Amino acid sequence: MLYTVGMVTYAVSCSHCASLNLTRNGRAPNGKQKYLCHDCGKNSRQNPGSNAYADAFRQQVLAAYHERCSLRGGCRIFGISRQTLVTWLKKSRSTSTSGEDTCPA
Ligand SMILES: [Zn+2]
Repeated sequence: MLYTVGMVTYAVSCSHCASLNLTRNGRAPNGKQKYLCHDCGKNSRQNPGSNAYADAFRQQVLAAYHERCSLRGGCRIFGISRQTLVTWLKKSRSTSTSGEDTCPA
């Protein structure tokens, strides 16, 4: 599908089958244009983003944990799952070379 903004024409292709036989199919809740592919019947959207938590949010949660917030308390406050926080802690321990996350008391 071709659409024109000002003097620039963009070609939108299906992210599943790369077909150009698309029509606009409403907007996603975040305001992005959705497209329906007439060849494979699937929906795709403009510039799809990642569903991962933002890196700044992850740093904030880890900082709260290192200020002695409990694991379950941190999950309740920030609304993330315990497994997510455990995975982040394992990753931060394997990447940090200083021994700051060992408990001194
Ligand atoms: Zn398609």
